[in-house]
Amino acid sequence: MPEKNTQFDAIVIGSGISGGWAAKELCEKGLKTLVLERGRNVVHQKDYPTANFNPWDMPHRGKIPPPELAFNPIVSKCYAYREDTKHFFVNDKEHPYIQEKPFSWIRGYQVGGKSLLWARQTQRWSKYDFEAPLRDGFAVDWPIRYKDIDAWYSYVEKFAGISGNKDGLDILPDGEFLPAWEMNCVEKILQEKIMQAYPDRHVIQGRCAHLTEPTEEHLAQGRGQCMARKLCERGCPFGAYFSSNSSTIPAAEKTGNMVLKTNAVVESIIYDDQTKKATGVRVVDAITKQVIVYSAKIIFVNAACLNTNLILLNSRSNRFPNGMGNDNGLLGKYIAFHNYRGNISAQFNGPLDQYYYGRRPTQVMMPSFRNVLKQETDFLRGYMVHFSATRGRPRLDGVGAAFKDAITEPGDWSIYMMMQGETIPKETNHVSLSKNEQDPWGIPQLIVSVDYDENDEKLLQDFFNEGKAMLEKAGCTNINTWDSKQAPGLDIHEMGGVRMGKDPKTSLLNEFNQLHLCKNIFVTDGACMTSTGNQNPSLTFMALTARAADYAAEQVKLGLL
Ligand SMILES: Cc1cc2nc3c(=O)[nH]c(=O)nc-3n(C[C@H](O)[C@H](O)[C@H](O)COP(=O)(O)OP(=O)(O)OC[C@H]3O[C@@H](n4cnc5c(N)ncnc54)[C@H](O)[C@@H]3O)c2cc1C
Repeated sequence: MPEKNTQFDAIVIGSGISGGWAAKELCEKGLKTLVLERGRNVVHQKDYPTANFNPWDMPHRGKIPPPELAFNPIVSKCYAYREDTKHFFVNDKEHPYIQEKPFSWIRGYQVGGKSLLWARQTQRWSKYDFEAPLRDGFAVDWPIRYKDIDAWYSYVEKFAGISGNKDGLDILPDGEFLPAWEMNCVEKILQEKIMQAYPDRHVIQGRCAHLTEPTEEHLAQGRGQCMARKLCERGCPFGAYFSSNSSTIPAAEKTGNMVLKTNAVVESIIYDDQTKKATGVRVVDAITKQVIVYSAKIIFVNAACLNTNLILLNSRSNRFPNGMGNDNGLLGKYIAFHNYRGNISAQFNGPLDQYYYGRRPTQVMMPSFRNVLKQETDFLRGYMVHFSATRGRPRLDGVGAAFKDAITEPGDWSIYMMMQGETIPKETNHVSLSKNEQDPWGIPQLIVSVDYDENDEKLLQDFFNEGKAMLEKAGCTNINTWDSKQAPGLDIHEMGGVRMGKDPKTSLLNEFNQLHLCKNIFVTDGACMTSTGNQNPSLTFMALTARAADYAAEQVKLGLL
């Protein structure tokens, strides 16, 4: 039966972190908004089947058996892919793509996207991050600065709920924080010792999207306090971490202005030569494969970085034979990500009479201390450091009651440290469409050609040297460094391909995330990022989305779009 309603004010493609925000903002501003999601519906609380499982409720106690790992060789590399969470990840075989170079593309296709699975670490960018490409001569200059997004960070932080301390650092600005989680005793010792040895470096508590003390605004969303269960990737029955499912999608729904269509795979965006605007989108029903066209005044593309690139590359017309808005040939290029290859472990002979409570959902962190205020190394940009101190079980052999008693006691303090490095966007790191291979919905498969470079190797080495030296100075022993050698993609922070910039000759999007050459298309997920910073990116996607949606809704009301 033909659909009755195919005409909307706005279409949002994707219902994950950025799409959820676009839906909420556009609906709240009165626009009749169609949200198109390729996956199934996941209703907050109702569709979290494992949320309250104990290990013994699962056939494999939470682990994935080897044959299944082999069936899913890519997503199973992700630490969060487990027996209790696997239903929120794609099956690799069902969603093929072509790796011209190794790239682990981790995806969650359902309402909420990867917002159900993310690790919820959220830091603002600083003014230095937005100024970096211009100062250091890479990528292109951002068309915005920190002052343009500061208030939007505040806006999304208040609604999402971000915990953290006011640290007063201009290299990692404070946000609208709920109370921070506490560092444990060994982390406090390391903090003191590292900051004594390196007065220009900062050890601070991680900032994360958890309700440590919900405000009225959070309670009104039906969300409650975090219980420190750290079973988050199952979906949180308390709505205690931010997900689209618990927060933005219900807010959009509440307005009565949202229509959510699931199993709706957007194939392309349709362009009209006469009006020089996009008129709507072509959608393939994921189950029946039937094709349907929906129309709207504005279109927000929030399918997550690489799928957004794919949709735009596949949106070909007489005017744009190489993809929507792609006169300069840069669509799909300058893809970047975060370098997660560096790991360090160590031991700390600390207080064995002290322990900690609960399972804290964040780690201690150090904002980048490399090349922040000026260029000072033989590599560009820097890295954020995350670390934590924990007490695991002692490693003992034995049998009997005494042995059982002994292994219930906590063991030594161990430290785990990791890097999150900025990568430099390059034209050669790109995605394109296959001419021969299609996915099961008849859409060209994406070819991904993304790799590390010499800058990434130098940055990694610097992390090993500096991380080791800091831990040594803090009194740690048994320090081991290792390179995970993981392929790009596994960081799950892919960005770029539809970058923002001032000049249509060298960028695709303007300062409000509009395609320079087709003003009623907005791209506000990771694809819009001109550079990557070293911060976890999703908070910035949220703020950019809320800002662009505000602008777009205003333009629609003025009749300009
Ligand atoms: C294990 C893990 C840990 C992470 N940790 C962090 C962290 O600590 N901090 C952080 O900032 N980020 C983290 N991330 C990354 C974070 O999840 C993403 O940055 C964020 O979800 C991106 O938001 P998005 O809206 O662009 O994409 P998503 O949230 O992935 O949503 C995209 C949506 O679009 C839909 N879609 C795709 N293609 C189409 C199509 N053709 N038609 C219709 N719908 C489509 C998808 O099904 C999906 O629902 C993590 C991710 C994972 C998986």
